[in-house]
Amino acid sequence: MNEDTVSPRPLAEIASYHAHIYHDGQTERQHAEWPRLQIGERFRVRLGWHEQKVGPHDQAIYQVSFANDFFASLVPWLILNYKGLSILLHPNTTNPRRDHLVDPIWIGRPLAVNGDILTDDHEAEEALPPNTNPSQPA
Ligand code: ZN
Repeated sequence: MNEDTVSPRPLAEIASYHAHIYHDGQTERQHAEWPRLQIGERFRVRLGWHEQKVGPHDQAIYQVSFANDFFASLVPWLILNYKGLSILLHPNTTNPRRDHLVDPIWIGRPLAVNGDILTDDHEAEEALPPNTNPSQPA
């Protein structure tokens, strides 16, 4: 394939993003509570709850669903404050399998993702309604 003839994928493919923050065991769960609280005080996002292995994730996680507008502030904040945790950051397009397996960004140590259960044809998920009420600057 001649690369010159291939059109790049447009940004419009990305409806929103998820950050999945992994924690393994009680100690890491407590450790992972710190960024969760700090994110809630700084960003208008949808914070999920601590959950045991869910979906394609091999460890317990909590999810941060956020609108495209927050990428430029939340992602650098996570880079500075991930506290040694593993964070899977992925776009939400119409192809969840590709979003998780091919196109994610990992902050911290990458972990296995069980892509077999994911579909490659799905309505792209818009950012979920925020449930935080930020009062602090990032
Ligand atoms: Zn996700």
